[in-house]
Amino acid sequence: MTDVRLSEKARGFLTSYLTSVKLGGLQRAYVVGSFDYKKTIATQQTRASVLALAASIQPPQKSMNVAVIGGGFAGISCAATLLKLGHSVELFEQKDRLIPIQVRCFDRYIHPTLFDWPDCDIDANFRMSGINWSPGFADAVSRQTIESFDAIKSKHAMRYRPHFSMTIEDIEETPEKKYTLLTDRRFTFSGFDAVFFTVGFGFESPVMIGDRIRRYWATSNLDHIHGTKQSPVKVLVSGAGDGGLLSVLNCALKNYDHAILHELAPKIFSKRTKRRIAEIEKEIQNGIAGGEEVSVIAKYDEAFRSRIDGWKKHFEPLVSEEVNVVFNSVDRGVFSPGSAALNRILVYLLLRMDLIDFVGLPLKPDIVSEEVDADHVDHIVDWPGRGQTRYRHIIVRHGVSRKFFENSFPTLEAAISPIKGLSPQLALERAIPDDILEILREL
Ligand SMILES: Cc1cc2nc3c(=O)[nH]c(=O)nc-3n(C[C@H](O)[C@H](O)[C@H](O)COP(=O)(O)OP(=O)(O)OC[C@H]3O[C@@H](n4cnc5c(N)ncnc54)[C@H](O)[C@@H]3O)c2cc1C
Repeated sequence: MTDVRLSEKARGFLTSYLTSVKLGGLQRAYVVGSFDYKKTIATQQTRASVLALAASIQPPQKSMNVAVIGGGFAGISCAATLLKLGHSVELFEQKDRLIPIQVRCFDRYIHPTLFDWPDCDIDANFRMSGINWSPGFADAVSRQTIESFDAIKSKHAMRYRPHFSMTIEDIEETPEKKYTLLTDRRFTFSGFDAVFFTVGFGFESPVMIGDRIRRYWATSNLDHIHGTKQSPVKVLVSGAGDGGLLSVLNCALKNYDHAILHELAPKIFSKRTKRRIAEIEKEIQNGIAGGEEVSVIAKYDEAFRSRIDGWKKHFEPLVSEEVNVVFNSVDRGVFSPGSAALNRILVYLLLRMDLIDFVGLPLKPDIVSEEVDADHVDHIVDWPGRGQTRYRHIIVRHGVSRKFFENSFPTLEAAISPIKGLSPQLALERAIPDDILEILREL
């Protein structure tokens, strides 16, 4: 294996990280980020690279023959790091290409640190284990990542083998501590020294209610939604994670462009306010890591409610008068604590300035009916205890299944219970020692 020098602190960190992601009862099978709460492309890539390094040095491994399951951003970073450290990699992807979820998405802006706003470096690029990308729309970021990986693959071609259109359904550990992968094609792959699950969080569940609004990573068709000043269209956006919050902003703001959201916030908030938002963010993250139920809106109200009127003059001109947005969430604190502070605070302001409406009741298929007119369809929602409301569009962003890993690998359910909750406590994105980051950047 390629030689790496690490401080005692770094070695200690890698040992705890490995423990927090290793499947219980198995010697060398690891999961990247499927149970963590801060899920962005950059954090998943970082987790994958750190894990590949940790598995290589704890204890030091000569060349291993490893399986990487999943060819998204995390799988690519995992494979790149392992190849650079001298291991042989077989990568299994159920779709017919790498990064199948984000390739061809042209209107979602990806940034390595924007979801850490206000503690973010707006000029940051991502660089780790030879995978480099600069902020841009999802398709461009995916292509930069694949190009970086192509260069690594061609250098280590003898040690890399991809398998596309291949779903892994289970793994087995032999008495010799080797792994066999069971596929959906009735054949198996065996003889692996280690297995890395980089299967992510799955796809969003099919939208059963409302419009045929496309999934988050499919290029959205929300820009066509508008009425007139005299007769604005009423749009219901259901879901309190980043998908829902971004759809609220997309519909509520004039000339919305995902890429300029980060320019909007610095114009509105003073340094002092940003510091307070950052402090609240830490309290929220620590609360989640400690298993606490955090109410985001209560924290924002305590800090900012009295200042709302002062901000209104900045905000009002940005809001479209042709759309009337109703935000729907059943989260205790209105916003999902795992969502990005930037998205949350902007929607919070819209809410408290009465520029959008809110319904805190569960949206289910059985309370929605359709009324078909000559040129459009209206959706009638019969809110329990509140009566009927008519919406031109319903956008459902209820996210991915929280049980994606268990549902994909039912036999591993017992093996994941010891690690659920462990890696969030480690707060990897804040705790990685500098020498580890340096090694991975220079690898
Ligand atoms: C609605 C939504 C909005 C988001 N917005 C952002 C955003 O704006 N910015 C951001 O940085 N992040 C965002 N994220 C998070 C981001 O999508 C994920 O962090 C990123 O996709 C994770 O990469 P990954 O490689 O870990 O997993 P994935 O991208 O999910 O990749 C996993 C891969 O594994 C494959 N796979 C799964 N199971 C198997 C199996 N059994 N066998 C073989 N292959 C398998 C899949 O086909 C897939 O290619 C968002 C997520 C969601 C759901």
